[in-house]
Amino acid sequence: MSYKIPLFELNFDEQEEKAVIETMRSKWISMGPKTKEFETTFAGMLGARHAIALSNCTVSLHLAMVLMQIGPGDEVICPSLTFAATVNAIRYVGAVPVFCDIVSAGELNIDPAHAESLITKKTKAIVVMHYGGFPCDMEKFTGLCKQYNLKLIEDACHGPLSEYKGKKLGTIGDVGCFSFFSNKNISTGEGGMLVCNDDDTDQKTRLLRSHGMTSMSYDRSKGHSTSYDVVELGYNYRMDDIHAAIGLVQLQKLESDLKRRAQVRAWYEEALQGTDAVTIPFIQNKEFTSNYIFPVVLKNNAKISRDRLRETLHEQGIQTSIHYPPVHLFSIYQSGLVHLPITEFVGNNLITLPMYGSLK
Ligand SMILES: *Cc1c(COP(=O)(O)O)cnc(C)c1O
Repeated sequence: MSYKIPLFELNFDEQEEKAVIETMRSKWISMGPKTKEFETTFAGMLGARHAIALSNCTVSLHLAMVLMQIGPGDEVICPSLTFAATVNAIRYVGAVPVFCDIVSAGELNIDPAHAESLITKKTKAIVVMHYGGFPCDMEKFTGLCKQYNLKLIEDACHGPLSEYKGKKLGTIGDVGCFSFFSNKNISTGEGGMLVCNDDDTDQKTRLLRSHGMTSMSYDRSKGHSTSYDVVELGYNYRMDDIHAAIGLVQLQKLESDLKRRAQVRAWYEEALQGTDAVTIPFIQNKEFTSNYIFPVVLKNNAKISRDRLRETLHEQGIQTSIHYPPVHLFSIYQSGLVHLPITEFVGNNLITLPMYGSLK
């Protein structure tokens, strides 16, 4: 079915098409100069020292775990109100995800006080996810990580250019992870980025991204080197120049797109002002944000009415979604032992309404 008002619309025009064709005609379509330019531009926009382009954000989160030397038996505190990839990445390295509740229906981010209560001798890191591009309480989280000697990983998929006290999200913790999947603020089809300020982390990420090899095929093709060594157990997590070329156009459009999204959010807030049936999360937020999605939480706590409302909107040609079904309730994570009352309430009562820059 095609919706009258979809949940999301791509911000694509002839510029992305032209960028793809130009890259194809350049005859270099795998990782090369466009990827480099995409990284440099992205890092510059965020004020980060390094940005490393990857094939998606899930591998960025996996590399974050590897880089932070998290391994079997280690515990990593994470939200449950997130996309499954945030949590799956912890499992890839044999570590144990420890689910943390969110602050409230009005503040859908991971709760620092609950996080602190979950810290044990085995805790190695905290992963925060900036819900909808609205910042987690980073002062509290950097403080906790310093106090207990933990690593801080930011899943900043929802928040390119979003800010927390003058800093861009993804640049505050030890590493930041971004996604350029189709429905994100920056769309390249598939794509991701790892952002960091530490030179060694940057070097190691570049090695791990490409089989642990000491030189890249682009450098070899240009005669910069003729041979290579394999010095780490790496992966093929590379981005390619076709995706990077699309990403470069998307970066040029990002700021004006975020301004239009802020207007759409203001319209929603105004329209919903008169009802006390819903909580509008992050209504108090004063920071510049990406407005990746627009969630509302029904107050009456009846999953059936949430689902019926979604069905009614669907019949009117309006697409909605749920961000997110809590991860700790999925089959592979269900232990029956974890109870997160606020996350579970929100999982039953949240609706994500359409949000994109060209929404009228
Ligand atoms: C989209 C998303 C991911 C996964 O990104 P991919 O690029 O699709 O692998 C991870 N975490 C969050 C919060 C996301 O929204």
